Amino acid sequence: MLEIHGLVKTYNNHPALRGIDLKLEKGEVYGLLGPNGAGKTTTLKILAGLISPDSGDIFVNGERYHRDHGSLKQIISYVPDQPFVYPKLTGEEHLHFFADLYKIPRDKRKEKFDFFFDYLEFELYRFELVETYSAGTRQKLLISQALMVEPEILLLDEPLTSIDPLVARKFKQLLKQKSAGGTIILFATHILSLAQEVSRRIGIIIDGKIITEGSLEELLKISQGKDIEEFYFNTVINYEKSL
Ligand code: ATP
Repeated sequence: MLEIHGLVKTYNNHPALRGIDLKLEKGEVYGLLGPNGAGKTTTLKILAGLISPDSGDIFVNGERYHRDHGSLKQIISYVPDQPFVYPKLTGEEHLHFFADLYKIPRDKRKEKFDFFFDYLEFELYRFELVETYSAGTRQKLLISQALMVEPEILLLDEPLTSIDPLVARKFKQLLKQKSAGGTIILFATHILSLAQEVSRRIGIIIDGKIITEGSLEELLKISQGKDIEEFYFNTVINYEKSL
């Protein structure tokens, strides 16, 4: 289980998060939606251990989590929106590098690597330098890295921006399988159809606060929207009017 209480983060006196609360059960898929600059990436980066919050508490399986908590970090993996890669490694070497960090035994790697290169359709680039990869192929590599470690908590920041529709469809199926197997998935996106298709719950974050959350069914009732797009626009516009 993942629990977040009162997460606050300020950059140069500018509040990015103003008290984020979230509770995700085993196997839950939660989609974070919100305008540019709302705080989605900041939330995910804190959970990935890349930055520290100013205040607030995070608990993973009941244990207090922070960025230096090595054993809890091992069960969390993260796909960033701006893929950081080592350009002089091949795709295969990149996966080995990550597998070393997560202590995946050598004899378990080939099967995993074969699966991801094949399933996400980038086998052709397996032994090519990552610096030659297109944006979508880089994203596939990072998705493979994050999933091959079989995390208990998977954090995804705009995972589909550069992925073609055919592979995106397979990726969504994979997310559903992982969630059925108990993985908690928290993702940020501007693609409303992705949130609709895979999330059990959706949260709208604006100005560093989650202003509403629930299943799509619940949210449509509250907002009287006919679909996710109308719900999103009603919610954001009503919030802006209320300021
Ligand atoms: P987007 O949808 O555009 O990706 P987001 O919801 O992911 O936006 P964040 O990247 O979390 O938003 O940014 C939240 C706020 O924090 C914004 O006002 C942003 O300008 C600010 N911010 C983010 N990173 C930094 C940083 N390294 N230094 C200063 N301000 C930052």
